[in-house]
Amino acid sequence: MKLWVIVPTAGSGQRMKSDVPKPFLKLAGVPVIVRTLRAFESCPAVAGVVVVGQEDILEDFRAAISAEGLRKVRAVVPGGATRTQSVRNGLKALPGDVDLVMVHDGVRPLVTARMIEDGARIAEESGAAVAAVPVKPTLKVVDPRSELITETLDRTLVWEIQTPQVFRRELLDRAYGGDENATDDAALVEKLGVPVKIYMGDPRNIKITTPEDLVIAEALLRSSGIERLATNG
Ligand code: C5P
Repeated sequence: MKLWVIVPTAGSGQRMKSDVPKPFLKLAGVPVIVRTLRAFESCPAVAGVVVVGQEDILEDFRAAISAEGLRKVRAVVPGGATRTQSVRNGLKALPGDVDLVMVHDGVRPLVTARMIEDGARIAEESGAAVAAVPVKPTLKVVDPRSELITETLDRTLVWEIQTPQVFRRELLDRAYGGDENATDDAALVEKLGVPVKIYMGDPRNIKITTPEDLVIAEALLRSSGIERLATNG
């Protein structure tokens, strides 16, 4: 099955409070987006990559991709107002012969080959697979008006969803065919009534959202084998 990856990275990054666009912030000396794309470049299961970026900095993406020799990146397309719209733009850029589509947030640079390969294999078997990790805290549902707790969730049943999220192409095309909005891809597939399987992600596969996340990601890189894996690609 031919696997392509869509990398949405067109968020506004307001929570980062930085003048440098989030994908270009340096993580241990290397831009976040370059680290993310290196993981796909070095993974034999991946045939091609579409990067979705903010329209006014598309040339910056193209320059970084060419400087890094990231040959699997075949298209750089503008994002939309929401993540859903950005992924929809990415889907339009896929060639006709792609069977399996992986969506991975550009701001999760610590993704590993293991996560990419597991997602591809499980989606090939089941149609839809998303990386997830068990939650650590106790989670409660709160009424926003009264600020009273209405429910304590059984945390053995609750999972934090990450990316990669991987789907058979026809399924994702159908899920994105309407004009609905969601914070991840699986939610749109779930709405079709199609079962979505989770597989084990990694607590280190964090989304770089705030300045603290950069500090955490640098510490994670230093303390694990991820640094070697990400730079040798
Ligand atoms: O907004 P959120 O943190 O869920 O973003 C997840 C990913 O989706 C990020 O990589 C972000 O850049 C991307 N995104 C996008 N277009 C948007 C909003 C978010 O590509 N309009």
